[in-house]
Order: sequence, then structure tokens, then C-alpha cells
Amino acid sequence: MSGVTFNRNRLKLKKLLGIRARLAMLAVLLVAPLMLDRVRSLEDARAKQIAHAAEEYATITQHSAETQREVISSVETMLKSAAYIRASSGVARSCEILRASLPTNLPWIRSIMLVSKDGVVQCSTLNIQVGLTIGDRDYFRKAQQTRDFVFSDYLFGKTNNRPIMMAAYPVAAINPEEDAVVVAGMNLDWLSRIMAKLGGRPGISSVLIDSTGVVLAAPPDQASMIGQPLDNLPMLSAISYKALSSNSDTGSISFSASDGSRRAISFARIPGTQSRLIVSIDEAAVTEAINREIRTAYLQLGFVCLFVLLGALIGAEKLIIKPIELMTGMAKRFGEGDASARVSRSRLPAEFMPLARAFNAMAAQLSQRERELVATNDRLTVMASIDMLSGLANRRGFQSRLDFEWLKAQQNNTELALLMIDVDHFKLYNDTYGHPEGDACLTRLGEALADLAAGTMGFAGRYGGEEFCLLLPNTGSIRALEIGEAVRAAIQDLGMPHVTSSHHTVTVSVGVAATLPNAAQSPGDLIEAADAALYAAKHRGRNTVVEHGFARPVDETGVALAG
Ligand code: GH3
Ligand code: MG
Ligand code: MG
Repeated sequence: MSGVTFNRNRLKLKKLLGIRARLAMLAVLLVAPLMLDRVRSLEDARAKQIAHAAEEYATITQHSAETQREVISSVETMLKSAAYIRASSGVARSCEILRASLPTNLPWIRSIMLVSKDGVVQCSTLNIQVGLTIGDRDYFRKAQQTRDFVFSDYLFGKTNNRPIMMAAYPVAAINPEEDAVVVAGMNLDWLSRIMAKLGGRPGISSVLIDSTGVVLAAPPDQASMIGQPLDNLPMLSAISYKALSSNSDTGSISFSASDGSRRAISFARIPGTQSRLIVSIDEAAVTEAINREIRTAYLQLGFVCLFVLLGALIGAEKLIIKPIELMTGMAKRFGEGDASARVSRSRLPAEFMPLARAFNAMAAQLSQRERELVATNDRLTVMASIDMLSGLANRRGFQSRLDFEWLKAQQNNTELALLMIDVDHFKLYNDTYGHPEGDACLTRLGEALADLAAGTMGFAGRYGGEEFCLLLPNTGSIRALEIGEAVRAAIQDLGMPHVTSSHHTVTVSVGVAATLPNAAQSPGDLIEAADAALYAAKHRGRNTVVEHGFARPVDETGVALAG
């Protein structure tokens, strides 16, 4: 029972999975591993590209920090040399040297000044600064306290209120008895310029921040951030927190920002300062290009799969379905009786050739057999309408010929005559000579009648027993009577002995009927009339010809009139 259900289900599945679907599935199975491999390599590429981008930015951050450090150390060097000069010379002399020595190749140094212990600017490369008091600045006090190089946070200049950053180096670091401090104003624009190559990239923010998190410098496209505390800048606040809370000088952190974006930050502390260079990467923005590339690759992959599927379907259609349909069509045509139906091999793939050859051979054999059958059938049909003893048409053959000639005569409006011929005293013949001899006699009579029919354009048949008939198309009663007489005489002239007959030879009696076939009459009427005439001929003493009633009366040759 379960076996039956299983088989039924299998059949249903087979129906569902036509050859096209199965080939499509096969194509998918073949393509799937390649697709999966491609997807895997694309995903690999994505991860690698993201890692590469992060690495690239970490390197750039490092390099930028290095550059900043060089800037800072150049400032430090300048301040130290100024401090030496101040330590070894008096205020006036060192001021002179200072004014003359600001190198032009350090454009980020805006000014260098010598400041007294209480914070008054004694001299400066910028005259406007002389006399200013900077004793209140944290960096100044810190330099005095630490006796070391100090770098300020973000400040506003005292003379012009413009953003500035200061560096201070106490002369006491060289000569503890000296209490002056050398101070340099730093051009923040220059720091921004150094960062230029970190800008202009979508999804990437880079800033140089001081110890409090105020932006000191940024690439030109992010210049608006300069002077702003990172806390005020949405998204960057988290970044500054991350960067500032880290103890290490350099590092990379990856985290989710409050806006949900995934960010990676690289930061580097500028040595000798509290400033940090921070590069923040919005992974989504950076990976957008990569994703776009990968989307295109997926799209291409999709198209390739689609083409493979279409190719499989078209291939299946052309290479399998069409040939099968072609051969089915041929078999159908052949089945419907078109014996000439053959598969055209030029339209088939090579694999179908043996099948096509077998089909064509089978079709040829079947056609040959059909021809033979038709021929045999024709022979049988002929045989069925021929009398084997006399070689003439039998009653069936005669009847159909009569029907045919009747219609023809009716169409052509011509006369049709019929002779009924019966052997006289044939029973006696059989009794006298034996049945086989009787048959031989009938055969001889048949031959004679065939000759007579040929000479009169008539059609001879054996109507039954020892009774014959001769159908005469296009023949009127006069001519029919003449032919009847010719038949009678011809048989008598054969001179076949018949000792028990009053005529001593085999003779025949002939009944003649002729008519102009019309719708009111039937072929049966003509037979009946000829039969009646024959009956009359028998009564007249045999070896006689009698015509049916509507013909001429008896003449001197013994031709009589029946009915
Ligand atoms: P009638 O002159 O009146 O025609 O007399 P008949 O003896 O010829 O007629 P009847 O109808 O009495 O006899 C016909 C005979 O023909 C009887 C039958 O044995 C014989 N006969 C019929 N068919 C055949 C045949 O195929 N072969 C032979 N040998 N005899 C046949
Ligand atoms: Mg008879
Ligand atoms: Mg007879």
C-alpha cells in the first residue's frame, strides 16, 4: 500500500519536474559552487579593503603626527637657541639677535619673544607684542615652574585676539640664575596645512586637539571646527573622549558612535605636548565605495547566473525539447497516415541521429509493409470479384460493374443492354460426362465469352451455376440482339459434343434486354427483363435468342420476343 503511494508521489514529482526544470536545477547545481566561491571571495575582499583603509589611515595619522612633531621640535630648537643667546647675553643684545634671527623657513613660528620673569614682553620679532603682559597665561607659569619646554593649549592672541598656540622655554633651564622665558607664538594655519592630506575624504574627520579637547588644527574642509571644543561637535565628542581617556601615545579604537555609525579612530600624541592628532573613520562611509563595488560584483554575478539559467533553458529547448517535439510531430504525422513523414536529420543534434535513423528506417519498413498490404488487399478484392473456373467476373463483380455502367449510361444518356446466357441441358451434360468435364466445359465457355466481350466492348461475367451474362454499354436493343445471336452461334460453333442434348452439341439460350437507364428504373429491372427473356428462350426450345417485350418481334433466324 505504502509502495503504491510512494510511486504515485514519485510520478507527481516527475510531472512537476519537467525536463526543463530538471536541467535548470542542474545548471544551478553546477553554478552554485562557483557562485558561493565568488561570494566568499567578494566578502573577503570587503573585509580586506576595510582593514586596508583603516591601516592606511593609521599610517597617515602616524605620519601627520610625525610632521607635527617635527614642527614642534623645530620650535623647541628655536626657543632653546634663543634661550642660550639670552643666557649668554644681556637683554638688549639678545633682543637684537632675536629680531635678526627669525628664520623664514619656519613659517609656522609667528613670533619669538623674550619675556621677563613677571611676564612682560621685553622684545619680540613682532614689535606690537613688546610690553604685553603674559604672566597670567598657564603655559608661561608652567614653563617657569617646570623649567622645561611647555606647549600651550588653544589660545586667543593678546594683540589681535586671533587663535594661537604658544610655546615657552625658560632660560633658567640653561642658566638657573636667569629668570626670563623665551616664548614663541605658533601659526595655527600652518598646523592645519600640514594636515591637508588628511582632509577631503568622505567619512573621515581629522583634528589636532589640545589637552582640553579644543581643536587646534584641521584640514581645510573641516576648518570650521578649529577653536571649537570637541564636546560641542556631535559625534566627535565621543571620539575625543575615547582619545583623551587613552593613556597610550598612539592607538586605534573601534567603537559604535551615538548616531549608530561604526567608527574607527586612530590617534597619536604629539611628543612633548599635550596635543593629539585624531583621525576618525566612519566605517560605513569608507566602506560605501567598497560596498558599491561589491554590490556591482553581486549584480554581475546575478546576471551571470541568470544567463547561465537562460542558457540552460534555451539549450535544453534547442537540444532536447525541440528534437523530441520534432520527432513526436513526425511520429504523429506518420500515425495519421502520412507515409512520407520522415525526420529531417539536418535539424537534429548529433546525439539524436541514431534515434532519427531508427525512426526513419521503421517508417520506411512500415510504409513498405503498408504498400504490400494494400497490394495484397487489391489482389484479394480482385479475386473476390473473379470466378476462378471461367476466369470471368463473378456475380459480385458483375453486379458492381452493372451499377457503374448504369450510372454512366444515365449520365451520358446512352443505352445499356444485357444478355443472360444459360447452358442448355447442362444437368444432363454433367450426368453424361461427369462433373469435372462439366467444369471444363464451363471454363471453355468462359473463354469464348471473354473473346466475345472483347470484340463487342462488353463485359462478361458468370452469373451463377451454368448461367453467364454479357453487359453491353452504349448498345441498343437491335445491336444487342445481333450480339446475342453471335453468342449463341459462337457457342454452337465450338462444337462441344453433348450427346444427350437434342442439339448434340453444347448450346446456350440467350435472353436480351436493353434500355435507356433512367431514375424510374434500377439495374435490377434490367436483370429481371433479361432473365424473363432467357426464360422465354428456354420455352422456345433452347439454343435461341429472345429479347424482352419492348424490343422487336421474332425474326426468321429464330430470334423471338419475350413478355
Ligand atoms: P435447362 O436447359 O433448362 O437450363 O436445363 P439444365 O439442366 O441446364 O438446368 P438445371 O437448372 O436443371 O440444371 C443446371 C445444372 O447445372 C445443375 C448443376 O449440376 C449444373 N451445374 C451448376 N453449376 C455447375 C458447376 O459449377 N459445374 C458443373 N459441372 N455443373 C454445374
Ligand atoms: Mg440454369
Ligand atoms: Mg441450363
